[in-house]
Amino acid sequence: MKEYQVVIIGGGPGGYETAIRLAQYGITCAVVESQRLGGVCLNCGCIPTKALVKSAELYREMKEADQYGLPVVDAPVDYAQVLERKDKIVEQLVGGIEFLFKKRSIEVIKARATAVTPLGDKWKVSLDSGEEISGDRVILATGSVPKSLPNITIDEVDVLSSTGILAMDKLPKSLAVIGGGVIGCEFASIMNSFGVEVHIIEFLPRIVALEDDEMCRRLAPALKKQGIKVNTKVGLQTIKKTDAGLELGLSNDSTLVVEKVLMAVGRAPNLDIEFPAVAPELDKGAVVIDDQMRTSLKGIFAIGDVTGKLALAHTASKQGLMVAEIIRDEFEGKESHMEPLNYANIPRCTFTSPELASVGLSEAEAKEKYGEIIVGKFPFSASGKAMAMGDTNGFVKTIARADDQTLLGMHILGPNAAELIGQGAILVSLGAKADAVEDIVFAHPTLSESLKESIEDIRKMSIHKI
Ligand code: NAD
Repeated sequence: MKEYQVVIIGGGPGGYETAIRLAQYGITCAVVESQRLGGVCLNCGCIPTKALVKSAELYREMKEADQYGLPVVDAPVDYAQVLERKDKIVEQLVGGIEFLFKKRSIEVIKARATAVTPLGDKWKVSLDSGEEISGDRVILATGSVPKSLPNITIDEVDVLSSTGILAMDKLPKSLAVIGGGVIGCEFASIMNSFGVEVHIIEFLPRIVALEDDEMCRRLAPALKKQGIKVNTKVGLQTIKKTDAGLELGLSNDSTLVVEKVLMAVGRAPNLDIEFPAVAPELDKGAVVIDDQMRTSLKGIFAIGDVTGKLALAHTASKQGLMVAEIIRDEFEGKESHMEPLNYANIPRCTFTSPELASVGLSEAEAKEKYGEIIVGKFPFSASGKAMAMGDTNGFVKTIARADDQTLLGMHILGPNAAELIGQGAILVSLGAKADAVEDIVFAHPTLSESLKESIEDIRKMSIHKI
């Protein structure tokens, strides 16, 4: 049986980054991965969707080119070319990780881990190839899978998952997106920009419900203005295939006929591994971890979507890098003094048009935790750079404690929100105070100035806002 210091099950952003960090520490590890490295994020998630976002945005802008004093281009989309570009980007990135692994002599075992069992003070990992390997430590980084609804089968032909819609080789005439969460809203935006008739069907009273209430309330009309039909407080009950298309039975007793359906009602932790002797504690299918990512089994850690924490690629990566450090300290006989990860300060980005991004606490959460708070806002309609870009929809909202003006959260709806939130993440994570930020010079003309003005607005000192 081949022995490793660490066996990582799953080669997504959590698993692969952890493997590289362990290699940097001189620790031997193997990554067990049945598909290609990069996981959902690189192969059928973050990266391919962002490639589509770019093509979709550009296509929409080409049709609106007259607003920039340019000729309008209104030719049909060559979707095969769009897909080819997306696939090339994925190929290049996955190839890049394979190259990094090779250079660092990290072993990838192309198999599925089927069982984990104790082996003295180590763990044995059985593979579907029949092979068995062992590790002093095991990291579960097995991600998540798309959920469906009772009575609805995702067949990836008519009813698609987020994976299936990326593989769809031609654009449908119409699409119903079930679930107005992050995945639903991103695909709704993409497909709408490509000219598909899009209906969002969301069970809750608002879309992207985990975000700050005001931001969600501002995103919905922006999507509607572009032609997306946003239906809230309505659930999907049935899908019937008819000659006219797929007939959806909705909870408000209405029906809707569309060509395709995208199921985007959330993702479930993926732990298709047996633990015949002793199993880790689970909570609603997610592996329970402590603040050091330890499971209930000594020597087994878990990171990423399988833990049921904030399900983002960068959460998984951060958890993994922390685990690598903890394991290194353990091997060196040192006690680890790792600060627990503050999940609230992990930035969250929704790549709709306009983009929505946030970090830290929402207004409601901040009020609940601190009682009195101050909110500063600045609209992109008052930003010279946003005007020059022709993209003034949205605003920045910054939340601070009332007593000492410590920044608690930042929320951005508008152009480049996902890039801009990085600055908010730095400020909020460092516990910056509003008056201290005012001493920092932000370049002109940039969208970043709007962040600064929203922080100045906390003290009612924004220059370009009355
Ligand atoms: P989600 O939980 O964000 O949204 C699912 C939505 O479906 C919810 O709003 C829910 O109310 C709704 N819903 C559930 N049942 C329904 C029904 N019967 N009818 C209508 N609506 C129903 O899940 P998601 O959008 O599938 O995303 C899954 C995970 O992937 C999330 O954690 C998300 O953050 C992550 N993700 C992140 C990004 C990003 O960072 N840009 C992109 C994609 C996915």
